[in-house]
Amino acid sequence: MIGLTPFEVGLAGMGGISARFGEMRDGCPHKGLDIRSSGVATPFTAGIFGKVVFVGGAYGTVAVAPRDGSATWIQYLHCSETSVVAGDDVYPWTVLGKTGDTAPPGTDISGIHLHLQVQVPGAGQTCWATSSGNPRNFVDPQTHATKNFIDGTWSVTRQYSAPGGRFVETDELKIFSSEIIGVAFFHTRRRELTILQTGCRIVAEFMWVPRITAFSGNKVLFSAPAGSTSIIQDTCGLNWKPSADPGSGDLELIDDNRLRYMSYTMNRAESVSEGQVNGGLHHFVASISPQFFTDGSLDSCNAKQFKPFELDTGVDEDWISGVAAGECF
Ligand SMILES: [Zn+2]
Repeated sequence: MIGLTPFEVGLAGMGGISARFGEMRDGCPHKGLDIRSSGVATPFTAGIFGKVVFVGGAYGTVAVAPRDGSATWIQYLHCSETSVVAGDDVYPWTVLGKTGDTAPPGTDISGIHLHLQVQVPGAGQTCWATSSGNPRNFVDPQTHATKNFIDGTWSVTRQYSAPGGRFVETDELKIFSSEIIGVAFFHTRRRELTILQTGCRIVAEFMWVPRITAFSGNKVLFSAPAGSTSIIQDTCGLNWKPSADPGSGDLELIDDNRLRYMSYTMNRAESVSEGQVNGGLHHFVASISPQFFTDGSLDSCNAKQFKPFELDTGVDEDWISGVAAGECF
């Protein structure tokens, strides 16, 4: 996470920053960052993973506690409208409300904008004191990085057999917090096919960077461009052609005060030409929903997580029927 800027809160291209953290105002440094919204009430987003802890007040405030275990509060001020309530889980792309100029009467406010401030624990400046006199401490939103609790590498290995063959497939998903909201995450997949009768093996590796296309609730929808595929071992002499296009899917964050697991669904098409198995060309589309847990392990291997393979018409269904229910070793 690179801190909170107009981009993170969904206001990129709306006029930029009108006042920075620490600029002196009436003898006190500015507590936050003022972000323009082209002079009109504009939806803005949380920019972080967190839980709403307060909505309302004279300044039109939404306060969010980041999901990083810290006592920090991220506060979004002057809202003309709010669209969350205390207790809501929010994601970087969740709209919290609209920019505005809400403030107590007599406040010298420079038009419609978002004032973003990060209050941190500990004694701070007396001129930032509350009405009861407690000094408070604030830091620059642009350089304050909240930890992203979904950061890291997630992996899952599936093994299944089909008449004539055994598959071992490992997926690895690397998520970088600074990129989850805007650009990409990284995914690699390794597939091994062992033909049972002969013991020959094909090993392929896939590497691709999905592009996030939309956000919906707690889901990140993505599409994957054509990836790079390498056949790194083929002792079978088969013309195995893993799909260059892994398709699209979604990444789901399921959260009850911590990340329990993520799931994702990918559709893919592959062509297998293997005279040593049953003959003929197999072209199948698989829809698989593995469950990634915080320790990176797969929950269990059952039919719920392995949706049936679907076959194009005219291919040898016997060959693939063994994995229809997600048979596992
Ligand atoms: Zn301000």
